Amino acid sequence: MTRKKDINKDYKVLGLDSIDEDIYDRQKRIPGWDQNKISNATIMVVGAGATGNELIKNLVLTGIRKIILIDYDIIEKSNLNRCVLFNMECTIENKYKVDVVKEACENLNSEVEIVALKQDLNDIDKNLYKQSDVVCSCLDNIEARLQANNYAYYYGIPFIDSGIDEFFGSVQAVYSGVENAACLQCGITSADLNLMWKKFSCTGQEIKSENGESMGKMATIITTTAIIGGIQTQQVLKFVLGIDYFKEHGKWHPNIGEPLINKQLNYNGLTNKFDIIEKRKDPKCWICSFNKK
Ligand SMILES: [Zn+2]
Repeated sequence: MTRKKDINKDYKVLGLDSIDEDIYDRQKRIPGWDQNKISNATIMVVGAGATGNELIKNLVLTGIRKIILIDYDIIEKSNLNRCVLFNMECTIENKYKVDVVKEACENLNSEVEIVALKQDLNDIDKNLYKQSDVVCSCLDNIEARLQANNYAYYYGIPFIDSGIDEFFGSVQAVYSGVENAACLQCGITSADLNLMWKKFSCTGQEIKSENGESMGKMATIITTTAIIGGIQTQQVLKFVLGIDYFKEHGKWHPNIGEPLINKQLNYNGLTNKFDIIEKRKDPKCWICSFNKK
């Protein structure tokens, strides 16, 4: 039997009538997928740096149409090695990250609405949390990450946190709709806080320890950022596609899978390994144990 004969047997020649006009055709083929849920979802993203770029690009390509984006930073040249939506022109004109992301996303999909807020997270209208289906943090600042965690937990909105550092990254999901779910604040001590200041960054900005000491600029690379941004996007999709099923059945849809609630996924680019550590609710946590809605 010749190779040519095999090909003729196994593959059909596609006619013009099989060309697919639906942008989302291939993902709609995934069992359990509901493109309407994706189209109608509003996602809040705090941080428009490297991980934010990856996450937002993925969300827009998937068909998410509304993103509330919060970041008051201006683009610098040192952002360009890992931010797919930025370019050199942005650095010359001192453009804000949120404005450039908004324009780039509207080019990717004219139906997308990016609410671009050049504000500190402290200053935003807290009703924006309630208008969101999922809140994501892509930040190098533990204080802001905890604040996003706290509000999202209080309002019962799923929250997905990410952190990257050189070849290492992590993702964790928090959702107060799951009984006894740990939040980001759980078990954090001042020693942990100090360590986390050192560990997490997605912007590469110079960071300071709790006592104000300069700790230099963080080392970051697009490979880690892309992997962690991809996993963070996947967590968003699990909530958007699966939360109604969870609320109805008390378990996650088998075709969509369970988010990383009570779990922290860690990626190690040196060993090529992922691992998941269990996160336990701290009965003394001032957010999730005393501040329930
Ligand atoms: Zn907690």
